[in-house]
Amino acid sequence: MTSRWQPILETTGCNACGSRKGRTLFPQDRHGLGLATELCLRCGLLYLNPRPTAGAYADFYQHAYESYFPSRARLISQQSIPTETANRRIDAYRTLLPPGSRLLELGAGDGAFLRALTSLPQVEAAGIEPSTLCQSVCEKLGGHIVANSLEEMKEPAVPYTHAAAFHVLEHCVNPVETLRALGAQLAEGGTLFVEVPNLRGQWRGLGMIHLAHPMMFLPDSLRYVVERAGFAVEKLEELETPLLECSLRVVARKQPGIAAEPTAPDLATLESLFRQRLRWWRLERCRYQVQAWFIAVKEHYANHDHRGGRLRRLPSDPPSGRSRARSAGL
Ligand SMILES: [Zn+2]
Repeated sequence: MTSRWQPILETTGCNACGSRKGRTLFPQDRHGLGLATELCLRCGLLYLNPRPTAGAYADFYQHAYESYFPSRARLISQQSIPTETANRRIDAYRTLLPPGSRLLELGAGDGAFLRALTSLPQVEAAGIEPSTLCQSVCEKLGGHIVANSLEEMKEPAVPYTHAAAFHVLEHCVNPVETLRALGAQLAEGGTLFVEVPNLRGQWRGLGMIHLAHPMMFLPDSLRYVVERAGFAVEKLEELETPLLECSLRVVARKQPGIAAEPTAPDLATLESLFRQRLRWWRLERCRYQVQAWFIAVKEHYANHDHRGGRLRRLPSDPPSGRSRARSAGL
């Protein structure tokens, strides 16, 4: 049940530009933990403030993630959606992946994109993935995982030519540092593919606003974060196509030392957008609470044997390591 895990919270400034001048756009999160969404008035980064500490996040991914996001955890075992999404990404990136490319994917998940890359001639691919559940699915299906996290990676003898991070940065408490560490694996001029949820896209309700999204992006703030990490942005798109809806996509080249200038956000427009999109959030919160209660009851009965009129704990699956902090991407 969601009430068991109580995070230690900390207040923070903007991780991208360091400013502490922010405006609260929304005072609550999907799970009612009091995590407000703040907008940096200097660069437009959106972030939870307060938010769980790094230690609390590690504990969350180790012990509580699946209670909070049961449907997301189950998606891992359903191959069709990740496979179809990966095929659409291949269509988008294939011209940028000539023969001889070597790609490193951060947050490879079940390896759907790594597998889809095998359709391209002479492209090698490897992934970083902290979840042991995802790792086992990925490797069973032929994907290659090289590390649990970026912290485990040494400087490569032969640098990668490409790096990818799809829906990873919004889970990181320090997206600039995460991208810099990913860039360290790339050759000079190497290509970066990034996709994240788009706060200017067609979202509605509390689905986007929750503790697993300590960072949220607008087009300008994503550009700024990517540039701060030492990449020159070549293409930035807002996507609203099936399976890739409400997303931002960036293609960038490694270019250390590139100048990065923040763009101040349009505060009035964003305040109005949040008001409209979250108009019915209290009702939605009630729905999430009822849903969480039903899931908890269902799982309780699924994990117990009622023979003899007394509940008996049955062996459960080993703890999944969606745990170990998704440190690649929290
Ligand atoms: Zn900022």
